[in-house]
Amino acid sequence: MAGEPQNDCLFCKIVTGEVPATIVRETETTVAFRDINPQAPTHILVIPKAHYENAAELAAGAPQLAADVLAETKAVADEEKLDSYRLVFNTGSGAGQTVWHAHAHVLGGRGLQWPPG
Ligand code: C5P
Repeated sequence: MAGEPQNDCLFCKIVTGEVPATIVRETETTVAFRDINPQAPTHILVIPKAHYENAAELAAGAPQLAADVLAETKAVADEEKLDSYRLVFNTGSGAGQTVWHAHAHVLGGRGLQWPPG
């Protein structure tokens, strides 16, 4: 069910500490950790602690929590001293989503091309 922890979800396990991650920030409702396969000098994922499959489900089911995630992306960018950065929410397999727990990618520290691939 949306919002409930999922036994088979990798990011739910990062929230509980069952799977290790390099956590850079944590709030009551969110966790931010370094991506294990960084695509830029700064590549941090911000996730809600509650399980929502992707950004669409999060936005529809828990708009305040979606706002918390967005606020944390700014906090991460500030801590990393990024003046330019990109936020990405891959939503659906056709867009490259591989982990089915909503997450914002915060990418920065190098020039980024547009449009993305
Ligand atoms: O948007 P997408 O679902 O493809 O992003 C998942 C991200 O989670 C990938 O960038 C992957 O490197 C990252 N990941 C991670 N730690 C894990 C497993 C995946 O940072 N243990």
